[in-house]
Amino acid sequence: MKYFICILLGFQISFVCAQRNCGSADYWKQQLQNDVTLSKRYTKIETASRYRASMKVQHPEVDDGTVITIPVVIHILYNTSAQNISDAQIETQLDVLNKDFQKRNEDVGKVPVAFSEYAADCQIKFVLARLDPQGRSTSGIVRRKTAQVSWKQDDKMKYSVNEGDDAWDSRYYLNIWVCNLGDGLLGYSTFPGAAPDKDGVVIRTDVFGTGNINSVYNKGRTATHEIGHWLNLKHLWGDTECGSDDVDDTPPQKTYSSGCSSFPKITAGGCNKNPNGDMFMNFMDFSDDECILMFTYGQRQRMRDIFTPNGPRASMRNSPALKAVTENAETETDKKSGNTLSLFVYPNPSSNSIHFRNFNGNNIIPEYFNVFDSKGQSLMSGSNKQFINITRLMQGIYFIRIQYEGKDTVIRFMKK
Ligand SMILES: [Zn+2]
Repeated sequence: MKYFICILLGFQISFVCAQRNCGSADYWKQQLQNDVTLSKRYTKIETASRYRASMKVQHPEVDDGTVITIPVVIHILYNTSAQNISDAQIETQLDVLNKDFQKRNEDVGKVPVAFSEYAADCQIKFVLARLDPQGRSTSGIVRRKTAQVSWKQDDKMKYSVNEGDDAWDSRYYLNIWVCNLGDGLLGYSTFPGAAPDKDGVVIRTDVFGTGNINSVYNKGRTATHEIGHWLNLKHLWGDTECGSDDVDDTPPQKTYSSGCSSFPKITAGGCNKNPNGDMFMNFMDFSDDECILMFTYGQRQRMRDIFTPNGPRASMRNSPALKAVTENAETETDKKSGNTLSLFVYPNPSSNSIHFRNFNGNNIIPEYFNVFDSKGQSLMSGSNKQFINITRLMQGIYFIRIQYEGKDTVIRFMKK
């Protein structure tokens, strides 16, 4: 809507439009209205999250200083060759995400002193997937030439039948679709609880990664902001005048900021009585890329909360997407390290049982094993077994994670 107003009112007051155009709030509202089961699911997530925030419940398993690693798949949808952005450009985006979510961004020093004590290292990391949902090795980047010239906020990019690309299992991957979004939109995201085939983030091609000199959205912060939503963060003003983002340490804010404000930003007639004014430099405001710099501890807590054992993104912590796969061939080397793979299962394929041996051909007994299917569902596990009986598995491809001498290895095998 904002976009149309901008067009109608013309150039003179185009400053009205000079704020980040994020579609997530509108999009999510619509999703909740259209889908009663989603609405119920999200209410439950929200209630649990508010309860834990109010009780300040700590979860040592996600807040013991461990970094939460999120496997990412990037779906590049291109109509022109220029839209088929390079791997190097994609890397610039991952670099920004890993800095912003770990308070390693070089510009964090620009946070005004009054707010700097709130700036948190969220300890969340993003890594391109190494295994696809079928257990094959992957770069974590899917490229698809599409006949679609421009896209809307209607999820069509998430379906191959609509010239888009299907989501990878969203329990184990953060799906990011990069495409030529229209209507002035920079991006939009689902919140936790979304339908699995829609769950993920959409970013306009020309604001993905850094370096677009023609834009104030040239520092990759659109993805930081949108992934903030994917991790359950709301806009600071709660998308209504003086609304709430359900985070304690972000000051109440009348509405969004735009461009680059100077400190302190006091909004007349606002709801923020704090002399330090609005936290316009927060990633969840609408300031330009160069002026959003931080998440708070409260936001950190709210994001990490969804990874607790019963949380809506708990499965992400057991994703097989980042395991290195061995193809059970002695000659194959781990391409990254150059090391020869050291453990094997045999026979492979097998119908009855599988055994383990090391590179020298000696049988070994793993300290621990866990067999799972291509969806990552755990089927059997145990410890100190010389071999594993697999007669009860159906025919197909499986994975076994074995721990031996303190090292984890994932091996693909076939039940015939
Ligand atoms: Zn937003």
